[in-house]
Amino acid sequence: MKPLNETASDGFQRVAPLWENDLMSANVDAPSRGSEPTDPLLRTLFETFGFRSFRPRQEEIVRAILAGEDAFAVMPTGGGKSLCYQLPALLLDGACVVVSPLISLMKDQVDAAVKNGINAATLNSTTSSAEYREIMEQLDRGRLDLLYVSPERANLDSFRETLKNAKISFFAIDEAHCVSQWGHNFRSDYLELGRLADEFPSCPIAAFTATATERVATDITSLLRLRNPHCVRASFDRPNLFYQIEFKENFDRQLLDFLKDVPNESGVVYRSTRKKVEATTEFLVANGYRAEAYHAGMSDSDRAEVQDRFARDETPIIVATIAFGMGIDKSNVRFVVHGDLPKDVESYYQETGRAGRDGEPARCLLFYNYGDVAIQRSFLDSYEDEEARRSAELRLNEMVRFAESEGCRRVNLLRYFGEDYAPSDGTGCGFCDYCAGVHKKVDATIDAQKALSAMQRTGNRFGAAHIADVLVGDATEKVARNGHDRLPTFGVGKDKSKRYWRYLIQALTVQGIAELDPTMERPIPRVTALGWEVMRNQRKVEIVDRPEGARKKERSRAVKKASSSKDALKGIERDLFEELRALRAQVAKAENVPPYVVFNDKSLVDMAILKPRDDSELLECSGVGRGKLRNYGEEFLDAIRVFLESRGI
Ligand code: ADP
Ligand code: MG
Repeated sequence: MKPLNETASDGFQRVAPLWENDLMSANVDAPSRGSEPTDPLLRTLFETFGFRSFRPRQEEIVRAILAGEDAFAVMPTGGGKSLCYQLPALLLDGACVVVSPLISLMKDQVDAAVKNGINAATLNSTTSSAEYREIMEQLDRGRLDLLYVSPERANLDSFRETLKNAKISFFAIDEAHCVSQWGHNFRSDYLELGRLADEFPSCPIAAFTATATERVATDITSLLRLRNPHCVRASFDRPNLFYQIEFKENFDRQLLDFLKDVPNESGVVYRSTRKKVEATTEFLVANGYRAEAYHAGMSDSDRAEVQDRFARDETPIIVATIAFGMGIDKSNVRFVVHGDLPKDVESYYQETGRAGRDGEPARCLLFYNYGDVAIQRSFLDSYEDEEARRSAELRLNEMVRFAESEGCRRVNLLRYFGEDYAPSDGTGCGFCDYCAGVHKKVDATIDAQKALSAMQRTGNRFGAAHIADVLVGDATEKVARNGHDRLPTFGVGKDKSKRYWRYLIQALTVQGIAELDPTMERPIPRVTALGWEVMRNQRKVEIVDRPEGARKKERSRAVKKASSSKDALKGIERDLFEELRALRAQVAKAENVPPYVVFNDKSLVDMAILKPRDDSELLECSGVGRGKLRNYGEEFLDAIRVFLESRGI
């Protein structure tokens, strides 16, 4: 392995020293005016892709490939991996062969590359023999820059013979974690790709993945037989994702509240079971939302259609199990909601990672309560292998810890991936619910004493819901049957809601003032030694405030404000953006491609802000290169002009 700068023993470049700069520059996809760059790399970046600067670590990989080295890049979803091979493919002689696992992914990538004026094609099981002949002819003549193929195709002896007779610049293996049994998407076809290194000794190979674990990384470099590769590991921070975790009390209502904050936007709602997926979908549709379900119980063709309508912005909201996600390159996913606790932090990260690939702000909202932990624990029983079960349990515990941790979400999340997130002012990321300051601490000592005493007096044998019933004085059948309506604590918490008490009990458990009885199947809180200190008035309790009523509305306004970017579109710019978004939808439909292939949200945002009047001004917008200018320039410039005139500007 041959990293450029500092190298740690694992061969990866350590991100920490570069980090602050990286993070700062991660947000600089912002529009900036200037003359055309002279450096050939930056020039192609600007002219073909329409970008002013590289994302963190892109340039380094591009340069390694151009220098003829093998390369291996671990970069988060949305980090911009495609550009790392597309740019050198343009600059090098011959075609770059890209191996990619899914036909839908290849098709979108090729469509997008062609719109940028790149000569790209794909060979897969749906290619007709006429198309095949034409592509091969282009390859022979050295006209192709990019050739996307499935791993099955790359493994065909006959196909590789063809490649040997053509001029191949290098191989790019996308989603390279598919080669590893330890990854989440093992494909045996990927294993066979190892022979490319032997059969094409003078062709560099570049492998890309978003999977963070060290084990998968080691598998990739060894199984693909990369030769002394240049390794790069980008920060896993996704600066444009706003992380938020809420106590789940009434998911349906909480979801509706949230959706009001993101009108017309596209997003995914993850649920843990098919039944919940169906129920939430029905609920949303009944409430006037365009939502569709997606889970493994549906036929392949139904699923493909749902996915397609989502990509095309025809169905803005998908309610799905974890079966949904792989193979979605849609860049304008503006939110990911988890209605239930994910099984581990890695899954949470991958699933939330599908939001905001275009770099524009996007929201990630997780709803969580104890019931979820119990459900996830019950899934653990399905493991036959004890070691696997144990490992899943440890990962679940980490997930619970993350969900319950206080403080900056980004710090907590990145710590899981071994990154030490250190913002320059030492406060926090500034872009999560904690940093937005919506979680205020309040003294809850008296309430804690009430709750602990109710637990103690009911014998530490009942769940939080029952304790809450006792506290608010609800003489349910179960309360009466157990004689709990005669306890001195019955009704002492009338001034608060049942939900408040359930929330408080969870908070006490997180702080170790209560604990869940490990011998019980269901979550049963009991008083701990710390809890006794509280009851004896030797210890104070603070919890994160959980406002109700008017104060709750105030808080949700604060979240909304904090989660939209500081330069969020307002007024006329917002209107222009909507206008352009409608035009994009229309153009995409006519061309039969997903809207984000025409322009991503970032490009439209730039257009709304910069309001370009001519070609050179349009080129200043992110994602607008010469290809897109030629294809769409006139239409979009016209639309902008007409809009401005209609507003008398
Ligand atoms: P990945 O494969 O790593 O998930 P993609 O290659 O799909 O990410 O890129 C995600 C988005 O980032 C795309 O919309 C792409 O156009 C954009 N992008 C890539 N590189 C840059 C850059 N240097 N500046 C601005 N946007 C970029
Ligand atoms: Mg990709």
